[in-house]
Amino acid sequence: MIDLHCHLLPGVDDGARTLEDSLAMAQLAVAEGISHILVTPHHKNGKFLNPKDAVVEATAALQEELDARGIALTLYPSQEIRINGELLNDIQKEEVLFVDEEKRFLLIEFPTLTIPEYTEQLFFKLRQQGITPVIVHPERNQAIIDDPNILLPFIERGALAQVTASSYVGAFGKDIAQLSYRLIEANLVHIIASDAHNTRGRGFHYKKAFSRLQADFGAEKVAYFRQNAKDLLNGDVVHTEAPVEVYQKKKRFWLLGK
Ligand code: FE
Repeated sequence: MIDLHCHLLPGVDDGARTLEDSLAMAQLAVAEGISHILVTPHHKNGKFLNPKDAVVEATAALQEELDARGIALTLYPSQEIRINGELLNDIQKEEVLFVDEEKRFLLIEFPTLTIPEYTEQLFFKLRQQGITPVIVHPERNQAIIDDPNILLPFIERGALAQVTASSYVGAFGKDIAQLSYRLIEANLVHIIASDAHNTRGRGFHYKKAFSRLQADFGAEKVAYFRQNAKDLLNGDVVHTEAPVEVYQKKKRFWLLGK
């Protein structure tokens, strides 16, 4: 399986701290059925800078360590880019790493609490350049937690989104697990990835997430998510299901009661 979001590189962000950490994570990934990992250190999130060239170099170095130990994982360099006003400029200067070599997909992280007002315009400009933003873990953004349907217009206009395996299986609590389920149900997310930072609480949770996906939504949904991950990595067209509003039982009840 493919994992398109993972903090596997040693000592570059809040993921693996040492080479030993990275190797332990890599072994766990293999045990979780993962064969290909897009390494996505934080970039421009206010705390970490991981420029393109450094990531490419560090990814190649880690790949060598994996190969030397016979750990069957193929790595690709990328970034988890916090949305920022310099993005279009950085793209023009070829300073960002995409998901794919075709430079069609970018992993974009929103701030923890909000969605910046300029997002709509920025995404429009990206789309004009043939670039599709992939919103990482929308289920962990407070504005989306408060009103999941603010994600809908972004997806309707062509953005994609990634739900985190550990969110879906409950590692961030019941509410985030429930929201992850609702986003999958409403076709508002298109891939599952690990966003693994370590081998403990923020590990891969892949087997559990995919067996839950199968139990909740059936084998077709599993195949859909797996195909989407492949298409993103290859820079191919992603065939998405039409998004709908998130089902919100409580809110509707409350509105009716008014
Ligand atoms: Fe991440």
